[in-house]
Amino acid sequence: MADKSKTSEAPVLAATETAQAPSPARKIYPIVKYGDPVLEKAGVPVKKFDAELEELAEDMFASMYAAQGVGLAAPQIGKSLRLAVVDVTGGKNPEAKIVLANPEIIHAEGEVREEEGCLSIPGFRGYVMRPQFVTIKAQNAKGEQFEIRGENLLARAFCHEIDHLNGILFLQHLSMLKRDLIKRKIKKLRKQGEW
Ligand SMILES: [Zn+2]
Repeated sequence: MADKSKTSEAPVLAATETAQAPSPARKIYPIVKYGDPVLEKAGVPVKKFDAELEELAEDMFASMYAAQGVGLAAPQIGKSLRLAVVDVTGGKNPEAKIVLANPEIIHAEGEVREEEGCLSIPGFRGYVMRPQFVTIKAQNAKGEQFEIRGENLLARAFCHEIDHLNGILFLQHLSMLKRDLIKRKIKKLRKQGEW
């Protein structure tokens, strides 16, 4: 990524469309917001591992950094695919970039209740219980199988992104009261043309 030291320089919050591309070759996708049905449907497995998929994964990293996120799933850019990218360093460490194609949780341990947000539900956060440790298996952008263990924020990011690939949003993990409150506020924003 060309912008590894620049993420904190991008003060734009709402401007996924206007965010400057970190490298001229990268496409910055606008992020789909809550209410779009693509977010609530399961993605199809990635079957073709080619240059196009590698490009897509890199564009997803660029789009995620532009939106100042630590994880992005393909449905969030309108593609119903079992593909996600995660980087809990926000682009500061290139080795922290993880492409997850067809990921599955194979082991989970412990519980942590932490506040969580989602690029598709900007401005809203809620406390969600997630495992403290998670081991997942997935394929990288070349189709190679690997296993990786995450702890705390990384475990949370894995769970959050895998949820996206199953059409599940963090709202579904909140109490009904909290969830309805957020949904009502979003409805109001939508009416005002602000969503
Ligand atoms: Zn999300």
